[in-house]
Amino acid sequence: NKQIVLKNYVNGFPKETDMILNDSSTINNKLPQGSNDSVLVKNLYLSCDPYMRIRMHETEGAAFGTFTPGSVVRLNIRKPLVGYGVAKVIDSSHPEFKKDDLVWGETEWEEYSIIKSPMTLFKIEHTYVPLSYYTGILGMPGMTAYFGFYEICAPKKGEYVFVSAAAGAVGQLVGQFAKLSGCYVVGSAGSKEKIELLKNKYGFDEAFNYKEEHDLNAALKRHFPKGIDIYFENVGGKMLEAVLSNMRLNGRISACGMVSQYNLEQGDGVRNLFLFVTKRLRMQGFIVGDHYHLYPKYMEMIIPLIKQGKVCYIEDVVEGLESAPAALVGLYSGKNVGKQVVVVARE
Ligand code: NDP
Repeated sequence: NKQIVLKNYVNGFPKETDMILNDSSTINNKLPQGSNDSVLVKNLYLSCDPYMRIRMHETEGAAFGTFTPGSVVRLNIRKPLVGYGVAKVIDSSHPEFKKDDLVWGETEWEEYSIIKSPMTLFKIEHTYVPLSYYTGILGMPGMTAYFGFYEICAPKKGEYVFVSAAAGAVGQLVGQFAKLSGCYVVGSAGSKEKIELLKNKYGFDEAFNYKEEHDLNAALKRHFPKGIDIYFENVGGKMLEAVLSNMRLNGRISACGMVSQYNLEQGDGVRNLFLFVTKRLRMQGFIVGDHYHLYPKYMEMIIPLIKQGKVCYIEDVVEGLESAPAALVGLYSGKNVGKQVVVVARE
């Protein structure tokens, strides 16, 4: 059973060498005797997600704080990474899962996993779409875009929406949901290729490469001469500061993530928080895992949109478990174009 294990805890930017490929004991195709409420799965696709870096940190650290149930579960050294994936059930002692079921949810970075008392494991019902979609548009990132945009931002037709990390797994969907809601939407991303995709594939009204802008404030002013009503926050730091200066009165910010902060020991401070007061802004954070009861509602919305070709979805797929560390590390330099997926096995 090949695994990707954490070699050491990580400070600063993660490196491929912080993880190693390990060949652990062989796995039988049966669960061990006496295992209750467990499933043995063959992992097919693994999802690379920015939050995984937070779990590689030895201590919670200044950037992450305390009292954050569900969001920061530390990984163990020499144990496989834990993350989302798509898998096939090989054996089950859990009443809700049976052999040959296809599932998505929390698994481990290895060929086969035993998932005990699965809390976050969903049966896959629609199999006419690529199974890998359950690491993205039909899985956790899709739910994140849905909850973070519709529930937190309560968009109205004609509003001005800004999305950062817009060409990623979550951002590409948020931009399209904003267009479907009749909003004007601008996205930022870190390469020319991504800017082209935002404008020509996902249908953003405008997009800019934040790496080429000396003054983010000026870039936002150029794109939003009347200001921003809704900001879907994926990056934090300097971008957040620039956005606050450009928010309109009563604007809403969905605090989905702050990827620019995950590798810093001290977050780089936002200096204009008083604007929350004067502009009567509201910013709300959320952890998608708290809201999975809405998953069926999301599926009712997204499946017809996929069938009718009304949403476009792009993945960045790499082959083989051994490619997973580089793929994960690539998220923090923007190497991924679309949702980063690792193929472990194709059924
Ligand atoms: P992406 O597919 O967007 O990948 C991460 C992207 O972030 C990179 O491609 C890169 O794109 C951008 N990025 C990396 N470093 C920086 C930086 N220093 N400054 C600006 N941009 C940077 O990831 P996801 O769509 O999966 O996740 C997007 C956000 O949503 C993350 O913050 C994540 O933590 C958060 N999230 C939150 C959840 C929740 O429950 N609240 C659940 C899931 C995700 P670029 O080329 O544009 O730089």
